[in-house]
Amino acid sequence: MPSGDVYDAIPKVELHCHVEGTVQPSTVVELARKNGRQLRSEDPTELYRYSSLNSFLEIFWLVQELLNDRDDWARAAYESIVDATPHGLRYREMFFTPARHLAAGQNLAEIVAGLSEGIERAEMETGARCALICDIDRAYGGAAGLELAERLADLRRAGLAERVIGLGMDSTERGIDPREFADAFRLGGSVGLRLTSHAGEDTGPDNIATALDTLGIERIDHGLAILEDEALTRRVAEERIPLNVCPNSNIVIANRYESLEQHPFRRMRQAGLLATLNTDDPAMTDLDLGKEYRTVARALGMAWSEIEEVALDGVEATWLDEGEKRSFRAQFERELAEIRPPDATAVV
Ligand SMILES: [Zn+2]
Repeated sequence: MPSGDVYDAIPKVELHCHVEGTVQPSTVVELARKNGRQLRSEDPTELYRYSSLNSFLEIFWLVQELLNDRDDWARAAYESIVDATPHGLRYREMFFTPARHLAAGQNLAEIVAGLSEGIERAEMETGARCALICDIDRAYGGAAGLELAERLADLRRAGLAERVIGLGMDSTERGIDPREFADAFRLGGSVGLRLTSHAGEDTGPDNIATALDTLGIERIDHGLAILEDEALTRRVAEERIPLNVCPNSNIVIANRYESLEQHPFRRMRQAGLLATLNTDDPAMTDLDLGKEYRTVARALGMAWSEIEEVALDGVEATWLDEGEKRSFRAQFERELAEIRPPDATAVV
């Protein structure tokens, strides 16, 4: 049983979390020293403060630049899981976005090997499990996206990327047409990678519809704008296309809402959408999975029973096979029964 409160004890899947965004400020300071980089501040409260998605991305990119070799990647992956398990993490499909590193001369095989080593060590220590999703960075354009997909496809064929089960896309949304990345996603799909993309975080519902129609994605990361389009909402609900939503991130990073109370997460679920809860970049936003569940439940007035459904929907939204989903679901149901408060219809 985790040491925190009942929200930490909820068994959880996480499908929208960037390994670079899990690097704790203390680790950032150590990596900067190791790599001879001067930080604008060694005070974490100063370091991780943003006014928009783009100002967040500047810091995110700085942290990315501090991941220089295989050991750095292994450390980041290991710590990300060890930090999350006390807050209920049981299984994660975690993003990494190597565009910046590849442009600086790092090797994708080394990055994947480092991440895989760190994950393996954390899995043995914690019992949680983790797979990887390689994200295209939209800011680098369609040609870089295709090149990344090609390198990843080569690694898979060589049996060197077994932990990488998906191809995704993140970073700047405004002014970038998802269609630029159609070839990269087609290639990813052809070598058996599952497909997802950030969409509608910082833009309108057209961005989500275009990503669905031209990239063949099976999940949507964020997708906040979806409720602005009724027909699209119906379609995504009927097809059970998961939306991996990160409410606290949308306040702190995208600054899309002033407060959690205004966030559409609960309305998305009431509209029949399979919307899951995730932390996005927890270390950069002073967040963990327990806090994400707790703050969202209380701000949106979600009863305990609704929160149990969120946890179970997380399992449905994974890319695990049906047998594994069944066994996670049974495990989650057992654990939820043990911690269920006397009145599950109330907000806890
Ligand atoms: Zn994200």
